[in-house]
Amino acid sequence: MTSPNNSRKPLIAGNWKMNLDRKSIQELVGAVSSGIVGRGAVDVAFFPPYVYLPEVLRACEGTNILVGSQNASEQASGAFTGEISVSMLKDIGIPSVLIGHSERRHVYGETLEQIHRKVAIALEAGLQVVLCLGETLQEREDGRTEAVCREQLSTALEGVSRVDLTRITLAYEPVWAIGTGVVATPEQAAAVHLYVRGVLAGLFDDSGAQSTRILYGGSVKADNVTDLMSVPDIDGALVGGASLAAKSFLPIIEGAQG
Ligand code: PEP
Repeated sequence: MTSPNNSRKPLIAGNWKMNLDRKSIQELVGAVSSGIVGRGAVDVAFFPPYVYLPEVLRACEGTNILVGSQNASEQASGAFTGEISVSMLKDIGIPSVLIGHSERRHVYGETLEQIHRKVAIALEAGLQVVLCLGETLQEREDGRTEAVCREQLSTALEGVSRVDLTRITLAYEPVWAIGTGVVATPEQAAAVHLYVRGVLAGLFDDSGAQSTRILYGGSVKADNVTDLMSVPDIDGALVGGASLAAKSFLPIIEGAQG
């Protein structure tokens, strides 16, 4: 279960989903950016809704906070009403994009092929990718957790070069734990993280697998983050609900420092 490489810097990322407004965003960014001063042992990222990206980017200037998009189109440009391309994200200075979140897969029906194309086009545009994967409760109960994670990972990363792997972070997010208050136990998460790292090693090589960050996501809070982060293969957290207020997000960042 232990990882020979402890050089992966933890990342705590907030996925705001379709929440907040200008005023609450200003307060949140202000409080988090001043709250993390002197806490450089952990990387921090925000994934705001599209319309707030430029504003959040500006507000995070001069801080170490990474700003990313929650999604992007698999198309380069053209007649795709309502979509946002990776080159648009790049154009406004967004360095990172979340791909394959379970709400995109299960609420909006994104397919494995679409997710594969999104990963490919984002990497081609020079963006960093946070690729989400994870099983539903039914899939876990059917004993298919590993098969589902393997399929999601291998299809999404098909054709990705070893060099481009360095721009990928994975987020294991069991669907049954997202927004439910039911967090995976450290043992459950450890087993999947170890498995996923093994799949990565098979797809690329051991050093690629050992240097890729794998976040855990699903009902992470201040009171469970330290236990989760004590698992050697867990390199941080993707946080939904608890990332919407500094009073719940900052203690998670603090708890991740061990
Ligand atoms: C998420 O949306 O990625 C997530 C993990 O949500 P929550 O922390 O609310 O479970």
